[in-house]
Amino acid sequence: MPAIIQLLPDHVANQIAAGEVVQRPASVVKELLENAVDAGADQIRLIVKDAGKTLIQVIDNGKGMETSDARLCFERHATSKIKEATDLFRLYTKGFRGEALASIAAIAHVELKTREADTELGTFVRMEGNTLVKEEQIATPKGTSIAVKNLFYNIPARRNFLKSTSVETRHIINEFQRIALAHQDIAFSCYHNDNELYNLAPGNLRQRIVAITGKKTNEKLVPIEEKTPIAEIRGFVYKSEFSRKKRGEQFFFVNNRFVKSAYLNHAVMSAYEGLIPSGFYPGYFLYLQLPTESIDINIHPTKTEIKFEDEKTLYAIIRSTVKHSLGQYNVAPVLDFNRDADLDVPYKYKDQQLREPTIRVNPDFNPFKKEAQKTPSSFGKGPTQHWESLYTQTDAVHAETNAQKTSEALFSDTATNAATFQIHRKYLISSIKSGIVYIHQHLAHQRILYEEYLKNSTIKEAVSQQLIFPLEMTFDSQDINLVKELKEDLEGIGFLFDKISDSAVFISGVPVNVDQEQVNDIFEQLLDDLKNDLPESSFSQIDGMAKSLAKSLAIKTGTPLTGKEQEAIVNKLFSCKQPELSPYGKKTFVTINLEDIDTLLKH
Ligand code: ADP
Ligand code: MG
Repeated sequence: MPAIIQLLPDHVANQIAAGEVVQRPASVVKELLENAVDAGADQIRLIVKDAGKTLIQVIDNGKGMETSDARLCFERHATSKIKEATDLFRLYTKGFRGEALASIAAIAHVELKTREADTELGTFVRMEGNTLVKEEQIATPKGTSIAVKNLFYNIPARRNFLKSTSVETRHIINEFQRIALAHQDIAFSCYHNDNELYNLAPGNLRQRIVAITGKKTNEKLVPIEEKTPIAEIRGFVYKSEFSRKKRGEQFFFVNNRFVKSAYLNHAVMSAYEGLIPSGFYPGYFLYLQLPTESIDINIHPTKTEIKFEDEKTLYAIIRSTVKHSLGQYNVAPVLDFNRDADLDVPYKYKDQQLREPTIRVNPDFNPFKKEAQKTPSSFGKGPTQHWESLYTQTDAVHAETNAQKTSEALFSDTATNAATFQIHRKYLISSIKSGIVYIHQHLAHQRILYEEYLKNSTIKEAVSQQLIFPLEMTFDSQDINLVKELKEDLEGIGFLFDKISDSAVFISGVPVNVDQEQVNDIFEQLLDDLKNDLPESSFSQIDGMAKSLAKSLAIKTGTPLTGKEQEAIVNKLFSCKQPELSPYGKKTFVTINLEDIDTLLKH
């Protein structure tokens, strides 16, 4: 038998290789743009006609090539970027194996114009199917322009397999975006059929992302930044409320190269666990910087998949970094020095100033004054008429409110130097003109809070303390609807909502004096009260809410109180509109007259 193996002619081998590298016009765009980046350009222009079928041209202002390189670059395995096989693993540039230009030249008409900075004349080279058809010295700007025309002219099957113009254009734009997102310091422009699609000025990452994806993106972004010995991560993720049903803007870059990684994507998704409903996807722009030895990206020039050495750790780092940033953004905008004030949409609560809590008893009351007067309690002579009306026998008529009537009836000037005492961690005792008052600390505080909440829910002056991490509480749909109805009133009294999803409520701030640990119980109690026993006894939902919260948050029986706290309760109680009763109609205090005591003692 005669020998049957023969070597393929070069042009056939090139066409086969080309088929691997150049699957569609977008592949050419990617290779040319990457070469321009590698050449150190800071201005790169992409010009495309008919979705790249007629023309793909990339013009850069990079370092250019000298004449013999301009010819050589179209040879297979011609590259200035690798000298030994081991270089493959250390590659910081975009190039691969010097195949791209050879492959492109094998299946298209290519015109190259290039000039190095220090030469006067540049070089023009024209290639047709890997054959040099023209070479001359020309005047041309510094840098390189490569025009690829009539792609697949010699492989009709390929050409016929190309998708519609809109699909191929989409692919081209995707490649353009990926490269532009990876190099925000380079100016990029993109034209299709003479329409300018993009004109991106160099800037910071946020600006580049917004310039590419649209102005609306700015408010969606939460900055990410983390440095670990294994990897550095920076970039942005979308706030959970901007997740969508479509996988939209999801970008991973490893050492400034766009990559696809289902594994890393999963890590990001897991950080949103519980924050977004299933079937929704957040956007992200994440940039990983890893030692090149720890990744394997040079599997194939067109592949965007990547392998990592320490995948598990990387997963954990990404997950926790994203989670952390998501938790932070609504507390305070994470310091983002790249933020462009012009683009900035203020965070919801950023400009909310802390307001002084409204003092309900008596704005002029000075607790320290009494010390100066050496009276042991706030039952000393108050500085104002209102104060006096509470604790002294006075002829002044300030009797519009029940509080004043009550206090007037209770206190006398003989009680001016009375002290308060707490007994059995349950009652506060104070001396009044007719004898003694016993105040139930828990019920009295309920009354105080109830009136406070009612007032705050209408005037919305409550002071909130923001939580470092939003608090998540899961509820069924009925409860969720109830929370939605109450949201505004709850905000009025100091709760801040991060968001309310179909199954969970995220609280980012609570009224001052409310402990984060209490919030869950408070809400459960509230929803329970509103659904069950309370509606009949409350004239409105706000009223029910105020009652329930007052019940949950009032100082419990059994709580020891300092002198100041005791005084505050007494003072506040008697400036309430209806101090005698708790919001649920229970008596808050009882008085015992001197005569009664006399009788008891049989004096
Ligand atoms: P690779 O990028 O893997 O080196 P290519 O076929 O893409 O292979 O390019 C071959 C060589 O041509 C490059 O190594 C580089 O020296 C040169 N080259 C290609 N494009 C440019 C450009 N825009 N500016 C300067 N040199 C370029
Ligand atoms: Mg290249």
